[in-house]
Amino acid sequence: MQLVRENLAETLKQLDAFPFREITPKSKAGFLIGAIEQKYSLPETYYAHLREREAAEIYAKRQKRIDDCSICDNRGYRNVKSERDIYFGVMHECTHNTEIESQFEDHKI
Ligand SMILES: [Zn+2]
Repeated sequence: MQLVRENLAETLKQLDAFPFREITPKSKAGFLIGAIEQKYSLPETYYAHLREREAAEIYAKRQKRIDDCSICDNRGYRNVKSERDIYFGVMHECTHNTEIESQFEDHKI
């Protein structure tokens, strides 16, 4: 327990990464103690998993802002009036900020 108390961050990291190690140690506890004490490097597949998890969180946050916004469509865009295309308007990525978005006018076809 002292090992865990004194190395909490390393312990959590090693436990989190363990399922990504392609090993079956005779003693999982023994392996983890060694891993924590000697700060074993973590498997590349674990880092890939972390990157995927982070990307999923970023995507979920973006989608929530879109879902909470009453201005844009379900992909986060608006079709707004523009002199560049007076017939069809232009697609504009919504900022979800009413003050900014009030400067644009919706283009209705
Ligand atoms: Zn929006």
